[in-house]
Amino acid sequence: MTIHHHPSDETVLAYTNGSLNTALALVVGAHADGCGTCRQTIRLAQTLGGLFLDSLSPAEMESDALARVIQRLDGPEEKTVPPAPRPSLEAKLPAFLQNQTVGRKRWLAPGIWIRPILKDREHGTRAYLIGAAAGKALPHHGHNGIELTQVLQGEFFDGSISYGVGDFLEADGGHNHRPVVGPGQECICAIASQGIPRGMAGFLMRVFT
Ligand SMILES: [Zn+2]
Repeated sequence: MTIHHHPSDETVLAYTNGSLNTALALVVGAHADGCGTCRQTIRLAQTLGGLFLDSLSPAEMESDALARVIQRLDGPEEKTVPPAPRPSLEAKLPAFLQNQTVGRKRWLAPGIWIRPILKDREHGTRAYLIGAAAGKALPHHGHNGIELTQVLQGEFFDGSISYGVGDFLEADGGHNHRPVVGPGQECICAIASQGIPRGMAGFLMRVFT
């Protein structure tokens, strides 16, 4: 698998330092699962972040800090939460998405389906899977915020640019597009979007995710 399109450096850094919200981080993590280049960037950013922390002078502690820690240790034990049962998932999901609860498949139009993964109301973002049959054109839409797309299966075209398995498309608020699935097989993508896309695509998303 040759990956031609990656998240921007800003997005990878935000992912690494934890400032990317959950839905967006999920799709960047799914990309990093299969991309050695981005994993290397993440490791480098983590190392640089660690060096930066090491260079900071130690913070002054409150005089009662130790007593408070001991008091916390003496407190009631935290209850162990049993692991949630593993949901049934699409077989092609990358490891990063394997422990997510994926909602049921809903048909948006003939040949186009959607399965919600999560909705982050605080940040107005959502993550979902979308599948479209070979040759299908998705509704033309603009964005009110960032939209991150990770290709899990098949191929789609955004204008003349092809996105295949492992590729990542980062569209900002000014990006208007009408992705078209390549010939041969169904295209399945993990998508995270901020806000609701403009137009009919946004209406359908509000109803189905
Ligand atoms: Zn990458």
